[in-house]
Parts: sequence; structure tokens; C-alpha cells
Amino acid sequence: MRRTKIVATIGPATDTEEGMRGLIEAGVDVVRLNASHGDNESHIANANLARRVAREAGRTVGVLVDLPGPKMRTGMLTSDSVELACDAEFILTSRDIVGNQHEVSTTITELPNWVKPHDEIFLADGAIVLRVDTVDGDDVITRVVRAGTLRSRKGMHLPRSESHIDPFTERDQVALELALQIKADFVGLSFVRRPEDVEGVIAKLPKRGHRPSIVAKIETATALDHLPSIVGAADGVMVARGDLGIQVPARRVPMIQKEIIRYCNMAGKPVITATQMLESMTRSPLPTRAEVNDVANAVLDGTDALMLSEETAIGMFASETVRTMAEVAESAENWPHHRVDPTGVTMDGDLVAWAVAHAAVQAAEDLGVAAILCPTKSGSTARRVAAWRPSMPIAGISPNPNVLGGLALTWGVKPLEVPEVSDGNDQLRVAVRATLAAGLASPGDLVAVVFGSVGPRAGSTDSVRIIRA
Ligand code: PEP
Repeated sequence: MRRTKIVATIGPATDTEEGMRGLIEAGVDVVRLNASHGDNESHIANANLARRVAREAGRTVGVLVDLPGPKMRTGMLTSDSVELACDAEFILTSRDIVGNQHEVSTTITELPNWVKPHDEIFLADGAIVLRVDTVDGDDVITRVVRAGTLRSRKGMHLPRSESHIDPFTERDQVALELALQIKADFVGLSFVRRPEDVEGVIAKLPKRGHRPSIVAKIETATALDHLPSIVGAADGVMVARGDLGIQVPARRVPMIQKEIIRYCNMAGKPVITATQMLESMTRSPLPTRAEVNDVANAVLDGTDALMLSEETAIGMFASETVRTMAEVAESAENWPHHRVDPTGVTMDGDLVAWAVAHAAVQAAEDLGVAAILCPTKSGSTARRVAAWRPSMPIAGISPNPNVLGGLALTWGVKPLEVPEVSDGNDQLRVAVRATLAAGLASPGDLVAVVFGSVGPRAGSTDSVRIIRA
């Protein structure tokens, strides 16, 4: 059984019944609806489609709504494109002009107040680099450091000079409301720089009823100065290597990826490694050797989940890509030297629940049980057990589809739906029955059950039982 989860972005290549079935049968665990593209109707239709197709296949898929975040752009040009030559002067202006080879407007009217000499400005996904010489009124006068072709309305990055930007825009509010409407399991937050950016969005979530998990996308240079506190504030994290590789030199990203994954592993929070993992498969049925290595290395780093973007949104080989990713991940997991070291787990918050989860994993390993069963109200028992990276499958067991969807990102956890029961013994019976039906154990096998007993600590994990299935 594969332990690493797969997130696939939905787009024109996969937003049909056939496309979605192909993804889910190939092993997708979470579908990503990218609110930067498409309209509300299509996202609602895709969430419903994914859940229906998964249910028909006897599977659980989580739904991740990725908020667009603020997007800084250059303005329109008089021609299709202009060539910016190395060392040439180029002006970014807050004047309302149509641009040319010498100057262009930007959507950031405050730009002259934000930058100072020597700051670097990245255009067109980092293809062009400008260095600020001076600021003159509405104009930022720069020198081209990396030459390239500029087209109208291209993305801009100002690493570490963007502190004034509100990371949560009106479009994000609309997308968050959509996420709540469709009971999304996860909401991806773009442009996080500090823990306050995460806390601000968590404060907007309903205090009762379904609450999606907030996944902080690490994609700004500033966020790297606040990693432990961002991981602490968020429910999960994404290593958003696309934007991150513009904000910091791409050569640093492999080490940053390891660092982010380690922080998340220690906090017991799910982490997704994202962007260009199997990019060549957007157009080719075979990945490059480097991509296969990249996927395997993310697994060896300890990532909970791997993400596909264009590969499944617009790719010609969407389900083949998922299958390839699944095979590569499983092969890395089965390497005998592979073991993510859980010794640094920080056990934050409910110490009893953490210690019981740890004890369950130790007993499970000592006895070589077939599976660890976690009947769970919120999903946190299964997440705590997963943090200790046991070698046997973890069953996350609940009657609530939203709790199950929320477990879809967590390493090693198989979400299992069971009927609602009130009696503790019945709960144990349905948990065992679901585990047997899912093929995670055979009748007579030893299994460990981690649960919250009835009594003074009711509602929280306090017990482990070792039973025969
Ligand atoms: C990324 O930058 O890697 C990323 C996943 O973000 P976006 O939503 O902008 O693709």
C-alpha cells in the first residue's frame, strides 16, 4: 500500500466524468481546484464530480481549494512583446501608460514607495530580472540584469519588498466562501509571509460546523524567516516551489524543501511538495530521469503528499502521470534504508493524546501488528499516529465524510467510512469490520486500536488496545 498521498489539479484535461475517473482509479487522494482559473460553477461541479466518482469507486478523495492570492503584474504593451536587453535602462511606472521597450506600467501603484536602490524585481516568472537604480516620482528606474522577452500583463515579484501587500484579496474572500459552500477539506493560502497571515484567515472561518484545514503555501522569501511559527499556525503546508524558486535562487529550493518538510514532520502536520514534479509528462508519456529522482527524493525527504499541476490540469497523459507518480513513490517507500526519523516530533497541545499515539506505534512495532486503527472524531488521532511514521497501515475511521476528506493528505492514513454508532463496543466492532473489508488486516491478525475512552477525558485519545481482528 502506498503511504505518500497524491494531489492532482483539475482542469480541462480532467474535468469530465472520464477524466476524473481516470485520476481516481490511478490513485489520486486529493483534487485541487485552483481558484486562479475557472469560475465558481465549474469548481462546484468538479468538487461534486470528484466526490461522486470516488464514492462509486469505494474511495475517499479530499478537496483542496487553492486561493489565488494577490497577483502583481506589469501593464499592457503597445506590441505583442518587447525584448529587454542586458544592461538597458527600463522604467516601471505608476503612470497610466501603454508600455514599450523602455517603460511599462504596473498594477502596484505604490511601487515607487516600496522599493529602494539595489532591490531586485522579477518579471515574467523570473525570466527577467531588473535592479533598481533610483526612484523618481512615479517612476522606478531600473537596469536589466537578466535579459528576456516581456509580454503584456506578466507576473511580478519583489522579494522582501512586498510587506505592504494584503495577502488576502477580495477574490480570496469569494474563493473562501466557495470553499466553505462546497465543504472543501483544505484551503490553500497563497502569499503567506508570517503566521499572522494564516491566523487572519483562520479567524474568518466558521466557529461551528465544518472547518476546512488551512494549508499555508510557502512561496515567499519572507516566509522562510518565520517557518516554525507558520507551520505552527497552519493545519498543513505546501512547498510551492514555482513561486519560491523566483523569490529565492532556485538552487536553494532543494534544501529549503528538506527544511520545510522536517518542520512539518516534527509538528505532525501534513506537507505537500508541489510544482513541476513530472512536468514533461504534460506532453510526453514518459517522465525524465531527473523528474523520477525528484519525486523519489521528496518521498525520502518525508513529504506527506506530492502535487501535480499542469500535468493533470491540461496534460495529455493525466492518469498515466498519476500512475507514474504512484509507482515512483511506492518504490521509494519500499527502499529498505528509507525511514523518516520521527524522533523530533514536538507533541504540541494535547500531551496525553500524543503520548498515547506514540505508545500505540511502539506497541504496534514491537508486536508487528497488521494495522493501527484510529476511530476519530476530528482526525487528529490518525494524524498523531502518522507523525510517528509506523511501518504498518493506519486506518482513519469515521462516519463523517468531512473528517475522512481531511485525512486524505496525511501520510500513511487510509480513510475508512463506517456507520454512526454510539456504544463503545459497537465502535470497535465496526472499526475492525471496516479494516478487514478494506484489506488492511485479515481475520485473526493482531491490530492496535487507538481511541478516546468514555470517561473524564471523553472526546480525546487516551487508550490503546491490542486485539485480534
Ligand atoms: C507554486 O508556486 O509552486 C504554486 C503551487 O503556486 P501557484 O498556485 O501559484 O501555482
